[in-house]
Amino acid sequence: SARLDGKVAIVTGAGSGIGRAIAVSFASEGATVIAAGLADGLGQTVELCAHAGGRAVAAEVNVSNPDAGEEIIEKAKAGLGLPDILVNNAGIGGAHSIYDTEDAELDLFLDVNLRSVFRISRTFVRLCRSEGRGGAIVNIASAQGLLGFPNNSSYAVTKAGVIGLSRQMANDCAVHGVRVNAIAPGIIETPLTEERLRSSTRFRAISVDITPLGRAGRAAEVAAACLFLASDEASFITGQVLAVDGGASST
Ligand code: NAD
Repeated sequence: SARLDGKVAIVTGAGSGIGRAIAVSFASEGATVIAAGLADGLGQTVELCAHAGGRAVAAEVNVSNPDAGEEIIEKAKAGLGLPDILVNNAGIGGAHSIYDTEDAELDLFLDVNLRSVFRISRTFVRLCRSEGRGGAIVNIASAQGLLGFPNNSSYAVTKAGVIGLSRQMANDCAVHGVRVNAIAPGIIETPLTEERLRSSTRFRAISVDITPLGRAGRAAEVAAACLFLASDEASFITGQVLAVDGGASST
C-alpha cells in the first residue's frame, strides 16, 4: 500500500521547486496535501498532485504572518482532517555577506525562514498534544546551516536556527509522539538557484564544484528523503539532520 495512506500533510512553499516536488510525491503516496504558501504556482501544484492520483488543496498564506499556522490548520480542518505531517519548506535565499547586510535584510530572513518555522511548528505540536495524536515534522534547512559558505550571512543564521530548533523540538515533542527531523540540502536546481547556476561561474564554483557527485541535485531527490522522514518507515528517527547534498558536507 502507499507509504502515506490516510495521512494529511501540510507542505509550505508548495508552489515551486522543492516544496512542489514534496507535495506531489506525498500525494502520489496516498497523502492528502495542504499546499500552503504564496499564491504563485499553488494552483499548478494542486493540479500536479491530482494528476499523481492524490488529493490536495491550496492554502494561500504568507508564512511570515504570525497567524500563518492557525490559518493553515483551519484550512485543513475545513474538510480534510487534522494534519499528521508538517513540512516547513517555504524560504527565501540570496542574502549578502555580513559586511553588506543591514538590519532590514536580517529581519526579513529571520521572519520568512526562521520565525515562521518556529510559529507554525508550535501551532502544529500544540494541536497534536491537545488532540492526543502523534505526528511528524520535517524542516527543510540547508547545508549552509551546517557549514560555512561565502555570502548569505542572514540565510545561514536562519538555517542553523532551523537545525537547532529541530533538535530541540525532537526532545520536547517525543513524549507526545511527534518526531522532528531536518533535511540539509546542498545545491539543488530550482527557481531559487537556476539563474545563478546558469550565469555565474563563481556560484557554480561554491556549489556544484564542491559536490563530490559533480552536479546539482534535483528537487525530487530532496522529496524522496522528505517522504522517508515523514513516513512511518522513520518511526524510530527523530532529532536528525539528513544531508541531501551529493556528498558536499563529507569533504
Ligand atoms: P523556490 O524559490 O523554488 O521555492 C520557495 C517557495 O517558498 C516558493 O513557492 C515561494 O513562493 C515560497 N515562499 C517564499 N516566501 C514565502 C512566504 N513568505 N510565505 C509563503 N511562502 C513563501 O526555492 P527552493 O529551492 O524550492 O527552496 C525550498 C526550500 O529549500 C527553502 O527553504 C530553501 O532555503 C531550501 N534550500 C534550497 C536549496 C537549493 O539549492 N535550491 C538548498 C538548500 C536549501
